[in-house]
Amino acid sequence: MPRHVLVLNTTYEPINVCSLKRALILVLKDRAEVLESTSHRVRSEKLSLARPTVVRLRTYVKIPPGERRRISRRAVMARDGFRCQYCGSTRQLTLDHIVPTSRGGRTTWENLVTSCAPCNVRKGARLLGEIGMALHTRPRPPSLSELLMPGTGELPDDWITYLAPATT
Ligand SMILES: [Zn+2]
Repeated sequence: MPRHVLVLNTTYEPINVCSLKRALILVLKDRAEVLESTSHRVRSEKLSLARPTVVRLRTYVKIPPGERRRISRRAVMARDGFRCQYCGSTRQLTLDHIVPTSRGGRTTWENLVTSCAPCNVRKGARLLGEIGMALHTRPRPPSLSELLMPGTGELPDDWITYLAPATT
């Protein structure tokens, strides 16, 4: 199992994934409670603790609308399965604005795709129709699981309960 911990808001809304170390700090400082843990123990000189997999913050964290789906290079590539959306290559990956910024294209989930460098160069500042290129899939904002666990797409079993209501 990955050494990642799902962090829930006080409302049980999933807000983040953090490292085990970070989660332990939250718990030890009494800033979060452990909801799920494994049978593995985390040991240090002073304590022994069940390894948390899901924690819930004790203080509500306000997430600005849209913040959760913030665009990042990693998140776009994870959504696209780390493949060029024009030719399927997995090498020399870059991000491409489908409608080039020089032609008024914006930085949105719908206008950004993973593109290998050769496709990106070939396309240049042209529109797809102008050069006869096509996209494998239509770009969209990523699902919560794609955003939380970029690259794997697999979620730990004990996270599912907490993610289910929010993945629609
Ligand atoms: Zn390509």
